Amino acid sequence: MTGIKQVLLDPAIQIGADLTTWLSLGGGDGLKAAIASPAGALDTVRDSGLRGMGGAGFPTSRKWEMLIASEAHDKAIVCNGNEDEPGTFKDRHLLEHTPHQVIEGGLIAAVATGTNQLFFYINPHHTKGLAAMRRAVEQWLVHDLLQAAQAAIGKSIKLAVVESSGLYIGGEETAVISTIEGGFPFPRRKPPFPAQSGVFGAPTVINNVETLANLPHILAHGAAWHRANGIGDAVGTKLYSLSGDVLRPGLYELPMGSSLHDLVFVHGMGMLSGKEFKAVFTGGPSNTLLTKKDLDVALDFDSVRARNSRLGTGAMIVISEGTSIVRKISEYMDFFANGSCGQCPPCKSGTYQLSRILNRIDAGDGSDGDLAALENLCSILPGCGRCALIDGAVTVVESSLSTFRNEYVSSIRRRD
Ligand code: SF4
Repeated sequence: MTGIKQVLLDPAIQIGADLTTWLSLGGGDGLKAAIASPAGALDTVRDSGLRGMGGAGFPTSRKWEMLIASEAHDKAIVCNGNEDEPGTFKDRHLLEHTPHQVIEGGLIAAVATGTNQLFFYINPHHTKGLAAMRRAVEQWLVHDLLQAAQAAIGKSIKLAVVESSGLYIGGEETAVISTIEGGFPFPRRKPPFPAQSGVFGAPTVINNVETLANLPHILAHGAAWHRANGIGDAVGTKLYSLSGDVLRPGLYELPMGSSLHDLVFVHGMGMLSGKEFKAVFTGGPSNTLLTKKDLDVALDFDSVRARNSRLGTGAMIVISEGTSIVRKISEYMDFFANGSCGQCPPCKSGTYQLSRILNRIDAGDGSDGDLAALENLCSILPGCGRCALIDGAVTVVESSLSTFRNEYVSSIRRRD
C-alpha cells in the first residue's frame, strides 16, 4: 500500500498537521532519495510503472522525459487539483488530509526533471484542501529539505498555490495553463503541447494529485515494492471514489487490479437493502457504462479499456435496478451542457440539444423522433471539440442507448 489509506484514516493526521509530523512518519525519505540521485529517481518511477491517476493513465516517467529533454531554464510542473467531475472526491481528501505527501511528491518530480516552478492548482470549492495546502507550502518554504532540493538541480524552486476557476473545464490541461497565466479557463488548440510550451511559455507537465502522492512512497521503498502492490500485471494501488446505491460509499485505496465486484460488494458492502445492482458509471459520467456482466473486471487501466470503458479517475457511481438510467444520463448531460466553455459551437449547442432531448424523454414527453435525434447527434458530434468534453458526453449517451435502449423506449411509450 502507498500509505495513503493509513494517512487518511489516522486521526493524528488532520488538517494543519505540520511538516514535522509528516517527516516523523517517514515522510521526506523519498525526496532525500531523489536529491541523492535525480536521474535515479526517474529510473525508479519508470521501473515502478506509475501511470497518471487523473484519468488518462499516461506513464508518468514518459511525461517527465519530455520535460527533461527540454534545454529551457524555466520549466513548470502543475499539480492538478481541480477535481470537479461528479462522483470523484479522491484528490480533495489527499489535499485536505495529507498535503505534505502531495508537496513532497511535487518536489520529487521537480528534482527528477530539473524543474524550477511547482504550482499546486486547487479548486477553490475544496476550501479545506486549499487552506491545508497553503499552510503546508509555507512550512516547506522555510525547510532545509527545499534548500537541498534546490541545490540538487542548481536552481531556486518556486512553490505556489493557485486557485482554479472551480469550473469543470478548468481541469483540462491547457485550461490549467491559461488559468495560471491569469486568463479564462479555456482549453487551447494543440500543438503546441504543454511539454513544448506551457505556463508562460515554459515546458510544462501536469500531474494529478494522486499521481504525486504516490511518489514519496515509490522513492522511499523502490519500484519493485510499488509493482508488488498491484494484482497480476497491474501495478501499485488506486484510490476509488465509490458512491451511489451502495451500503458503504467512500474512498477506498485498493491494489490496482482489484475486481469491480470486490469494490462494490466487499468494500462497499453491497447494494442498499432491497436494491439490485444494475450498472456503474466508471471514472465519472463520461465513459461507457459497466453492467452486471462486467462485475468480474479487474479495475486497472488496461482491463477496463478492454471492456470498452475507462478507469478514468477511479470514480465508481453505482446504479441499482429501479434507478432510471434516462434520468441519470439526463442529469449528467445538464452538467456537461453547463460545463461547456462555448468556444466550439458544436459542443455548446450539441450538449444543449442532448440535454433538452434527454430531459424531454425523462419527463415522459419524448418521441421516437427524439431517439433518432439522439443517435444523429451522437454520430456527428465526436471530434468536433477542442477538448474531450463533447466526446465524453456523447460516449455516455451512446453507451446508455446501446445497453438500456428499452428504458428510453419505455419512457417514450409512457406518453402514448
Ligand atoms: Fe469548450 Fe466544449 Fe470546445 Fe471543450 S469542446 S473547448 S468544453 S466548447
